[in-house]
Amino acid sequence: MKPTDIEFPVLAFVDIETTGGNSERDRITEIGIKTLANGRETVWESLLNPQAFIPQNIQRLTGITPEMVSGQPPFEELALQIKRELEGKIFVAHNARFDYGFIKASFKRLGLDFRPKVLCTVKLSRLLFPQQARHNLDTIVAAHGLMVSARHRALGDADLLVQFWRVCEETFGKARLFEALNQLLGSVSLPPNISQSVIDAIPVSTGCYIFYGEHHAPLYIGKSISMRSRVMSHFNSALTVRKEMKLSQQVHHIEWIETGGELSALVLEAKLIKERMPSANIKLRRSKDLCAWQLSPEPSGLQRPTLITHKYLKPGFQDNLYGLFPNKKEAMGYLAAVAKKYQLCEALLGLEKVEEGKPCFGYQVKQCQGACIGKVSLAVHNLKLQTSLQLYKVPVWPFKGAVAIKDGHSMLVINKWCYLGTATDHDELDAIAQSENFDFDLDIYKVVKKAIAGSHKANLLNLGNSQRAEASYDAIG
Ligand SMILES: [Zn+2]
Repeated sequence: MKPTDIEFPVLAFVDIETTGGNSERDRITEIGIKTLANGRETVWESLLNPQAFIPQNIQRLTGITPEMVSGQPPFEELALQIKRELEGKIFVAHNARFDYGFIKASFKRLGLDFRPKVLCTVKLSRLLFPQQARHNLDTIVAAHGLMVSARHRALGDADLLVQFWRVCEETFGKARLFEALNQLLGSVSLPPNISQSVIDAIPVSTGCYIFYGEHHAPLYIGKSISMRSRVMSHFNSALTVRKEMKLSQQVHHIEWIETGGELSALVLEAKLIKERMPSANIKLRRSKDLCAWQLSPEPSGLQRPTLITHKYLKPGFQDNLYGLFPNKKEAMGYLAAVAKKYQLCEALLGLEKVEEGKPCFGYQVKQCQGACIGKVSLAVHNLKLQTSLQLYKVPVWPFKGAVAIKDGHSMLVINKWCYLGTATDHDELDAIAQSENFDFDLDIYKVVKKAIAGSHKANLLNLGNSQRAEASYDAIG
């Protein structure tokens, strides 16, 4: 399972070269910034004119000579660009006090304030690799086999930090790295009405969490395999993402429900969103207009699509069903698009009315291949229609009765693509499997269909074929 729902704040990996070690007396000669946002890297670098002497030993170390920097812009000319590059991001550097100190001092000389959240990769290395005796950059390069492009040049060293970050992510996983980040950054900006103790009480396990606003109005429902990390990432993103900022301002109260596994969390999330209608869940679907096309043969042999509206729709029971569409408009639009793409006859599809035996409009403009006047056989037309809709087929429920899908320590009971309940013991499983409360939900259907297709046989229990569910439950333990 991948914790794909953990989002890191935007990270700016920074390295600078200077004329010396004192941020008051000495000046910056080069800045390299690698920004990592949602896994994507962008780069900013520049040499700077320090307007000061570069000592010989430093020239030897970095290779940056007075000739190289004499024609370059001084800090004040680049200040706004640099500010833009670093604003709203986590400032990541090795021995961060050094790089941060120089940049802060340079801004201060221009009367500008600079206070980002700072992450020191020495501290990160110490935290994650405590067995390692040393944590200087050369040791880290050697320990993790990092690729050195330009050691002691700003962008070259910044790149090593990005590589180190990726090593940490691969070694410990996103959830653990996220915890480490929070640990080192101290309290991230918590929402005004949420205290640290509320965050600390949220379990680091799988489940759904609910944000409430004032007067207990549901704001947002989410799921995660690490609820606390995910909740924290909402509030971290509030630093840079406007939508998250709004949510963060509104939240007054947080509740959570632990689930046996990720599948249960997905199903519960869909169910809760439908029940509580949180204002910030944009994925919220209205199901009252849900519909699908059904192909049924006419006496002529023509397979004619009929629109099955929500009232008559019974996915899982009905055969030759294609969809599902959120409303009639989408369903009509899809069929028209299919007709166009495969040169089908809109008259035969019921999208256009024509007199019997007359060609449709599409035939006259060479859009229809002529199934309406016998130029193409109905069998071919039928086949093309079925093939073109195949991707949208809603299969009839493939089992005799209910099935149970093992998810952690609980079992999800599913029948006719509908979620019937979650069982934690034999009796519950037995009782739930008898239920005929088929309340179809599109989101749950998608989740369940995928889970059943990808489920290992040992995790899938067919309750319809056994005398009693209890026996089968014991069989898979
Ligand atoms: Zn036609």
